[in-house]
Amino acid sequence: MRAVVLQPGHRIGVADVPDAGLAQPTDVVVRVSLAAICGSDVHIKRGGIPGIEPGEILGHEFVGVVHKTGAEVRRFRVGDRVASPPALWCGVCPACQLSTVQNCVEMSMYGGGPFLSPMGLSGVQTELVRVANADLVLTRIPAHVPDEQAVLVIDMFSTGYHAANEAKIKVADSVAVSGCGPVGLCAILASWQHGASRVFAIDQFANRLGLAERYGAIPVNLSHEDPVETVMEATGGEGVDVVLEASGSTSGLLNATRMIKKYGTVSCVGLFGQPVEFPVHQLIYRGIRLTMGLGNLVHVPKLMKLVEHGRVDLSALGTHTFPLEDAVAAYDLFENHKDECLKVFLRP
Ligand SMILES: [Zn+2]
Ligand SMILES: [Zn+2]
Repeated sequence: MRAVVLQPGHRIGVADVPDAGLAQPTDVVVRVSLAAICGSDVHIKRGGIPGIEPGEILGHEFVGVVHKTGAEVRRFRVGDRVASPPALWCGVCPACQLSTVQNCVEMSMYGGGPFLSPMGLSGVQTELVRVANADLVLTRIPAHVPDEQAVLVIDMFSTGYHAANEAKIKVADSVAVSGCGPVGLCAILASWQHGASRVFAIDQFANRLGLAERYGAIPVNLSHEDPVETVMEATGGEGVDVVLEASGSTSGLLNATRMIKKYGTVSCVGLFGQPVEFPVHQLIYRGIRLTMGLGNLVHVPKLMKLVEHGRVDLSALGTHTFPLEDAVAAYDLFENHKDECLKVFLRP
């Protein structure tokens, strides 16, 4: 089968690799219909995650059709359309028992190498993918939810939702979303689902802010205004109840600490590429709650229902689709923010 693989020198290519097969009776093999490129894939391409060697298949976001089932799989049959979470869990450890599967002792991201994939799961930007613990982790895709939206539910929307959920947004809370990439845009949608009264959307790219505004948020353009001043002025000097930090930047986190209301919550889901120094003392004196972590993937099935019943429309986030063979061009577009791209898909 063909696959997008890591190559030496921080490059990627498309190569022949052995077909994926069943390894355990609880596995299924899924034929990939659509895979997406994620910021984490670019992080891996640049060598940001240790232990991932050239030849590893990239990607962790995909949907497809069940191709083979292990002898113990009960919930799925060949031909079912399914969405897999980007990382899988064991179902039996203490974290899984508490439904905080993101903290599972065996949490394994597809293509995550020895550090991020103790289960040894390969990447998904390919034709066939082995899914472990299939009955536990897979979500059936409702008939009229297109692949292009289903693939956005599993990581982008589930992460944005997790940010809002962990922040415990209450009805009528004011929210600022720092960073309006696909996760931040999904965090805006999730804020409305939690009952927010208004959402400030902070970014520097006009196209992202345009979409944030379409999603009902108040755009704040970093290139033209100081977001702290704007948010403080708009909230009568109090600040917002909640900041959802999805930029993964030092300035984003520092601004969050300056625009948050006393006793407010800053919820971080952005992936920081470097250590950040920030004013802990101010957060302590002002009683700020700071929460962070990877998205909790148990939300995926219910989030799929929001899309199924038209409560959330993710279609505007998917801007480009390439054949898998053109992955090098797709990565170049995504990595360099060309052509106002947001989410870029690969079709095997
Ligand atoms: Zn991802
Ligand atoms: Zn577990």
